[in-house]
Amino acid sequence: MEFYTGKSEEDDAKYLLSYINDVLIPASKEFFVLLDKNQVLLHHAFSFNTILAHAIDYIDFVVKKVTALSSELRVIPRKNLVSQFDERYRVDGCSNINNKFRLLDAVNNSFKHVKLDRERYKDLIKTYGDLSFRNLYSEEGKVFFKSQLYSFDYCRVVMRPIAKIFDCDVKNHNDIDDFINGKIYGSFGHGNFHYEYESHDAIDRMIDFCNSECKNCGEIDDDCDCVSYIYDQKSGKRSPNMDPNFNFNDVMSNISGTREWKK
Ligand SMILES: [Zn+2]
Repeated sequence: MEFYTGKSEEDDAKYLLSYINDVLIPASKEFFVLLDKNQVLLHHAFSFNTILAHAIDYIDFVVKKVTALSSELRVIPRKNLVSQFDERYRVDGCSNINNKFRLLDAVNNSFKHVKLDRERYKDLIKTYGDLSFRNLYSEEGKVFFKSQLYSFDYCRVVMRPIAKIFDCDVKNHNDIDDFINGKIYGSFGHGNFHYEYESHDAIDRMIDFCNSECKNCGEIDDDCDCVSYIYDQKSGKRSPNMDPNFNFNDVMSNISGTREWKK
């Protein structure tokens, strides 16, 4: 379901377009470089979290303005808007945290204010326990979220997939309305494999199978430490992005067939 049909105001769309392309995307590139090298410090995480959360604020501003001017649309409270984002953009990545946008928003607010509005975030506090900016801490180039029941790499599990959503090459007013309404958005493309399932792509399929990225953290093989994460007192696990149609024996026989054929 869309937040609105029709168009937002041009100046508002231009502001968001510029914010995404001139601020958020460059910050995102920098963040991914630090993330890939495991060099994220606490101030990097909070800075980028603030930049992502400001985009939410601005989307809220645009949606409120369009819906308030319409006689047919109802104004959506900010809390409902944020909780719809995870669904609207089908946030991929870690399936243990299903409210990434809400958590990002709460972490940002706990960072901005000395005391978090407990009433506004009561559902999240019920899930994660007390929230404050001290839930995030840095360790060996990674920034973790830790509460009574949870402990996981916040940058990889929450910020990484949200940052990816904004990376969808929005270029004009139309794109901004489509983006806000969840019609276009960036994605890791988990679960999509464009093979022809012929012997000529068997080697590629085997390489992808052996190097499959973990959907939860984005790491490959031993670099994934998802098993050490805790979600609601339960251990996390590696979740490789593998082709559901992959069949080891078939692919192997295709590979040997290709070799025979090459001789
Ligand atoms: Zn992992």
